[in-house]
Amino acid sequence: MTLLLGCIADDFTGATDLANMLVRGGMRTIQTIGVPTAPLPDEVDAVVIALKSRTIAPADAVAQSLAALGWLKGQGCKQVYFKYCSTFDSTPKGNIGPVTEALMDAMGTDFTIACPAFPENGRTICRGYLFVGDVLLSESGMRNHPLTPMTDASLVRVMQAQTQRKVGLISYTTLDKGTEAVRQAIAKLRSEGTGVAIVDALADAHLDVIAESTADFALVTAGSGVGLGIANAHRRAGRLKHAATSAALPNVTGLSAVVSGSCSDMTNAQVAQWKASRPAFKLDPVALANSPAAVEDAIAWTKDQVASGPVLIYATATPDDVKAAQAELGVARAGAVVEEALAHVAKALVAAGVRKLIVAGGETSGAVVSALGVTALRIGPQIDPGVPWTVTLGGEPIALALKSGNFGTADFFAKALAQLEATR
Ligand code: ADP
Repeated sequence: MTLLLGCIADDFTGATDLANMLVRGGMRTIQTIGVPTAPLPDEVDAVVIALKSRTIAPADAVAQSLAALGWLKGQGCKQVYFKYCSTFDSTPKGNIGPVTEALMDAMGTDFTIACPAFPENGRTICRGYLFVGDVLLSESGMRNHPLTPMTDASLVRVMQAQTQRKVGLISYTTLDKGTEAVRQAIAKLRSEGTGVAIVDALADAHLDVIAESTADFALVTAGSGVGLGIANAHRRAGRLKHAATSAALPNVTGLSAVVSGSCSDMTNAQVAQWKASRPAFKLDPVALANSPAAVEDAIAWTKDQVASGPVLIYATATPDDVKAAQAELGVARAGAVVEEALAHVAKALVAAGVRKLIVAGGETSGAVVSALGVTALRIGPQIDPGVPWTVTLGGEPIALALKSGNFGTADFFAKALAQLEATR
């Protein structure tokens, strides 16, 4: 296996987002849940190791990231990519800065870039300031994030606050001049003792320039956007012989189901649309907390129904209903009770013959994947931006679509199942 790119992602759905980009660019990509313990198939251009390190203690994030790096180095991978969120989710303590520096130290490199831009999704960087759509990061909803409130849009300042090395900037005016100008800017920053450069990106063309000018870097750090530039660069250089079939998945046959624990607006709309014409079973967190029989009822219902067509089992609820459940059980318990129940349901579904499973919710996906003992996924075609079909590796293959929060259109569930059928 010639691993062109080895990625370390700081959360699960972020890892899928990057993997989806790489596949779109023509790289055959596998996502692993945590550091791989079993060998991976040979036919792969990129591996994305999904960690859960975004908001844990910096020392733990560093340790996990170094373990991932150790595995990637063992595979002889050509370039390492540290992937974080396009809204640069972090605090003055980290974890983007400390992990970046630990990787630089371990790889013996004195310079890297930081570029969370994802222009297609409205995340652009202009003179070092990160925009979410038309507003500065610090004016976006991210300023109120419960764990990583982003109250400063200047990425140079944000990165410098969590980094020992000097942080500099390569602005879009340089990117507009092309690869050679960016290489010169990098050489200049390096000679001045800068260790990390925030790089502007206003459009996909800038991502291509970034990828070309850092092609010989041991380490790049970025959101998922730069991944598309890197895949494009490898494809243009003729290194992706299987680009046309990079999204091909093995054939999976079996029953179909949807499990939803996301309470985002879009997931509420998706559940409502499904319920209007197809079978669905609602789980109530308070009932689940009060009686273990509640989940058994759901399982009995699904076993009864699923043989005759796809079913939905959901805890998805409106903000008022979520608040009511949280008031009764506490926020953490309400979440945990639902995640545990849906994980249990997912296991029962697979035992009943389900092999095509859609999961809505980032945390919910984590709980389901861990209950099913999934350790690696081959990434397939995109269903909607950020959400590809995948197939589990090791054990009996299951087609999984893991959809977080507000991703996907209102008809996502039926559309995703139809797309899978269409490729058969
Ligand atoms: P998203 O990707 O939309 O953020 P997550 O699965 O990450 O979705 O998070 C949703 C959280 O809400 C989970 O912890 C889930 O268990 C919890 N949850 C789901 N349904 C309910 C409900 N009816 N009441 C309270 N919490 C719920």
